[in-house]
Amino acid sequence: MDTKNSLLRKLPAISSILEEEQINRLREFHPYSIISEAASEVVQAVRERILENKKPDPVNFDLQTIIGMVVKRVREKTSPSLCKVVNGTGIVLHTNLGRAVLAREAVDAINEVAGSYSNLEVNLETGERGTRYSHIEELLCRLTGAEAGLVVNNNAAAVLLVLSTMARGREVIVSRGQLVEIGGSFRIPDVMAQSGAVLKEVGTTNKTHLWDYERAVSEETALLLKVHTSNYKIIGFTSEVSVEDLAALGRKRSLPVFEDIGSGVLVDFTKYGLNHEPTVRESIEAGVDVVTCSGDKLFGGPQAGIIAGRKDIIERIKKNPLTRALRIDKFTLAAMEATLRIYFDEEKAVREIPTLRMITMPLSELRTRAEKLAAVIRQRLGDAPDIEIIQGFSQVGGGSLPEENIPTFHVALSLPEISVSSLEQQLRTQEPPVLARIQKDRLLFDPRTLLDGDEALIAGHLAAIAGHPDKMSGHPAKTAGRGD
Ligand SMILES: *Cc1c(COP(=O)(O)O)cnc(C)c1O
Repeated sequence: MDTKNSLLRKLPAISSILEEEQINRLREFHPYSIISEAASEVVQAVRERILENKKPDPVNFDLQTIIGMVVKRVREKTSPSLCKVVNGTGIVLHTNLGRAVLAREAVDAINEVAGSYSNLEVNLETGERGTRYSHIEELLCRLTGAEAGLVVNNNAAAVLLVLSTMARGREVIVSRGQLVEIGGSFRIPDVMAQSGAVLKEVGTTNKTHLWDYERAVSEETALLLKVHTSNYKIIGFTSEVSVEDLAALGRKRSLPVFEDIGSGVLVDFTKYGLNHEPTVRESIEAGVDVVTCSGDKLFGGPQAGIIAGRKDIIERIKKNPLTRALRIDKFTLAAMEATLRIYFDEEKAVREIPTLRMITMPLSELRTRAEKLAAVIRQRLGDAPDIEIIQGFSQVGGGSLPEENIPTFHVALSLPEISVSSLEQQLRTQEPPVLARIQKDRLLFDPRTLLDGDEALIAGHLAAIAGHPDKMSGHPAKTAGRGD
């Protein structure tokens, strides 16, 4: 058996690795600096492994093995980090998976402006300078009933802008039950502090009455704020003030009312058997002066923050220097415009905006899709996997419709001799990665969030994994199995 020292002596020199034919071929596609960096990292890693091992290493680090490791390392270093994944989790607006999937027309619109010049800020009629917001303002107004509107980077930015424009150095009255934190560190009190507005909290965690607001109004008050508690619900002995009542109080005391409704709903969800979610139009009709919401939650568009409301308020917001810092780019604008246009035909919106289509997908269709996935898997793997179609629940996610557990059908699966956690990990490190849920000792695939072609991808990955159950063990999670 080799001693440590003799193993170390056998290690090839980096320069000789770099002269190898297989390594040389990489230079056609990859920068030399990355290849030589990969070679030294691999040699260093092997050296450390030899030194750490008390017993002689069972793996023989011959030149061919090392070359293989270098090729793999170069691939890891050069393959894109941000990539498509298959969402089998059934969580429609999965924040970690990029929230809303865009409608085809929105994707095409991005493509169109990405590779060419556009009339982003020029009025083609007059030839004069225009504003980027003009492309969507009218659409936004028609769909929400608001007098004016604009779109910024995300809803967090929208809330910050409204507060900074209307309440800097003055008080904003808000219920204690609405001082929410939304995932990813958006907290109402913190945004308030950042905007320079002064938080004036009223009521209690579970109950706030109109007189709580009334009593708090003073010379210092700039704004009455209502925040939709998107991601949680207080149940039991509770009450909050309706937007109508708050708007009426605002009118009586000549104070503007601002509502952050969180999810930018434009259709009535109760028509599709779901719980009611406040729509932008309802808020405007209730008399709210300015409303903000996200573009990539239930609206189903690009990441953006929509601000809709009274014309004089929107004009002031447009003039706030912060607006320039938070402005959207042409891709967002293109996707936003295309998505808004789809909404003019609600049936089309529910059919073509993936978020809406997924959320409203009938149970019968989910069953058919689950059966199709199971069939495609059986086609590739025969009787090897244990597959069952079971009833379960999908979630909307993204801090929207918190109580909504929407019934679905899952494909529950296990493979012989592979633990469910290993199977989950191996699927997650394929190309493209597949994400699924673990329930007890089975993996669950929810057809609700699968897109066209995903069934074949899943079946292909499962076949590869079943053929080589141990292929990935011990390899770094992110890159194992990618890029062959
Ligand atoms: C999600 C949410 C936000 C933050 O919106 P982003 O678009 O993620 O910045 C703010 N307020 C409420 C009520 C929300 O639900």
